[in-house]
Amino acid sequence: MVTTRGEQLYEGKAKILYATENPDQVIQYFKDDATAFNAQKRGTIVDKGVCNNRIASRLFELLEREGVPTHFVKQLSDREMLVKRLEIIPLEVTMRNITAGGMSRMLGIEEGLPLNPPVFEWHYKSDPLADPLINDDHILALKLATPQELETIRRLSAQVNDALKRYFAARGIDLVDFKLEFGRHKGAILLGDEISPDTCRFWEQGTKRKLDKDRFRRDLGDVEAAYQEILKRVLGETA
Ligand code: 5GP
Repeated sequence: MVTTRGEQLYEGKAKILYATENPDQVIQYFKDDATAFNAQKRGTIVDKGVCNNRIASRLFELLEREGVPTHFVKQLSDREMLVKRLEIIPLEVTMRNITAGGMSRMLGIEEGLPLNPPVFEWHYKSDPLADPLINDDHILALKLATPQELETIRRLSAQVNDALKRYFAARGIDLVDFKLEFGRHKGAILLGDEISPDTCRFWEQGTKRKLDKDRFRRDLGDVEAAYQEILKRVLGETA
């Protein structure tokens, strides 16, 4: 069956969601728009949408093979991904293997320290509040998710971290940290959103060169080249 874009359902900072003829499936369209610091900084990263769609499609396929249920159905075109429709849970999970970004700022510690075991964080998904850190008690008291759902999300997040750490290490990249979002679909918890240089920190092993959105956030230059480099490594053409 040919899947065509229907009505626009939602426009976010980096993606647009469209309905399809199947009520259980939607299209994620990947834009080149980039934002940082709660959308106070805005810009465009040429072909980011194409890179992120291809990278995320590969990574979702990998995770499905590893037994992590995701919303991914298939890549439809350069910028379009067909996904299962989710009832998004308003939580963001952050997994950290090395100190950086928000954790370094919050605790006043330098970036680049290995974290063993990895650090799991819940954040409340809210742009106006800048995704504040919360704990299980907040989530349960506010009934954002059930205890079973929290347990499932923690287990799946650890599985994602193990699989992606190994995958990127084999491609000469340290997976520093990343953000995940989950949703409900026909009674199951599925991994949603995207996994890409927008949502992960990738440091090249040896050089510690940043190959992710921090190049945009911190005005480091060569932003497009970093996204292309991650795509190249994901496609198996190691530099
Ligand atoms: P931090 O909390 O250090 O700012 O972010 C930790 C990791 O999660 C980084 O890899 C970052 O890219 C990702 N992350 C956290 N929150 C967001 C968000 O709201 N949007 C995006 N694109 N990534 C996020």
